[in-house]
Amino acid sequence: MSPDSLASLRSTIRDVPDFPQPGILFKDITPVLADAELLRVAIEGMAEYFAGQKVDKVVGIDARGFIFGAMIAQRLGAGFVPVRKKGKLPWQTRGVDYSLEYGTNSVEMHLDAIAPGEKIVLADDLLATGGTAAAALQLIQEAGGDLLGSVFFIELGFLEGRAKLADMGPIHALLTF
Ligand code: AMP
Repeated sequence: MSPDSLASLRSTIRDVPDFPQPGILFKDITPVLADAELLRVAIEGMAEYFAGQKVDKVVGIDARGFIFGAMIAQRLGAGFVPVRKKGKLPWQTRGVDYSLEYGTNSVEMHLDAIAPGEKIVLADDLLATGGTAAAALQLIQEAGGDLLGSVFFIELGFLEGRAKLADMGPIHALLTF
């Protein structure tokens, strides 16, 4: 990806202070989604990390991970699997509870979403503390998926989420803040 494209993506992400709670600087990606050319460049760049590899399924995390994950899956010729917040999926599920800064959260995946040995990529919009991604990666591992790596549009490097994902395959991020 060209330095110009990366700079355009970076400057189009909108910083929203104190959302959804005081002290959080929210990275709003909707201006990128709304721009046809920037959206294309972002998806191309994220898919590029897995170019030339056979990918069976891209797993996307509720909710912005669905947008990136489904488009990356399309580009890689792979299927798409949603990891959703607890209670949203209609069929039989496996779930993982994980801790947030305050309290806990749960994510689920359909039991039949991944067959053992399938080549899997995890996608989400943003890597912060890594708790959400670690939970999704655990679901992929429990299903017997062969993890090729994870890809994020944005990584908040100062939160060191990567450390939580050590030993869980390669981690790629298009933009780091
Ligand atoms: P974490 O589990 O801490 O890595 O949080 C990751 C999830 O929370 C991602 O799915 C993001 O969509 C969301 N998230 C966390 N922090 C931010 C932020 N500063 N701006 C936008 N989204 C965020």
